[in-house]
Amino acid sequence: MPAYLDLLDLLFPKSCPLCGRIISHDQVICYKCKMEIPPMIMDQNLKGRWNFDKFFYFAIYEGKIKEMIRSYKYGGAISLYKYFVDIFDELFDYFPPPSDSVITTVPITFNSFKNKGFDHMKKIGRSFSKKRGIQFLDLIEVVKQKKQQVNSTFEERKELVKGKYRVRIEELYRTNGKIVILDDVFTTGATVNECARILKDGGAQSLYVYTIAKTKLGEIYELK
Ligand SMILES: [Zn+2]
Repeated sequence: MPAYLDLLDLLFPKSCPLCGRIISHDQVICYKCKMEIPPMIMDQNLKGRWNFDKFFYFAIYEGKIKEMIRSYKYGGAISLYKYFVDIFDELFDYFPPPSDSVITTVPITFNSFKNKGFDHMKKIGRSFSKKRGIQFLDLIEVVKQKKQQVNSTFEERKELVKGKYRVRIEELYRTNGKIVILDDVFTTGATVNECARILKDGGAQSLYVYTIAKTKLGEIYELK
């Protein structure tokens, strides 16, 4: 560890955003919290007609990882993005996307941006793109703001997200059609499926989806 980090630790102790334990400045969360996140690192066989070709996730959305994602999105623990960058890094090591893919993320609504002050996935996506040396492009934008519904089924969500997003076609033309979509949680999959649909309609050839977590009930074969 560089000496300046030791000095920083002494002068400005940093604490784990999840449990408050003292950590060093090169850590994002403490070891104990880290140990509580069992990585699954799964590639999910696709059943049914999805608009993307492959889907990978790091963990089941529960316990510590759920707490982390919520603290990051709503609790102001923005430094956690570094940890999520490492998670995607690990996922890519196991399941690399086709070469020359570009990275994009599912955008948040304007209201959500106003509340949070940042686009939580874009922050991760841009930083990850730098780390990995893969181009990041804003390929999708929100055009219609619809009420979020919690605990809705795939079909209900599918209706909700229809027409919500638009492809920035001039950006899509800068790619060779191989796209990676990063998102935080795979619940019913309706949102990311809609994003994949409009990208395919715009001419995308290959679509890989990577998420930090998948809910237990988020069954990928729900879609017929
Ligand atoms: Zn901790």
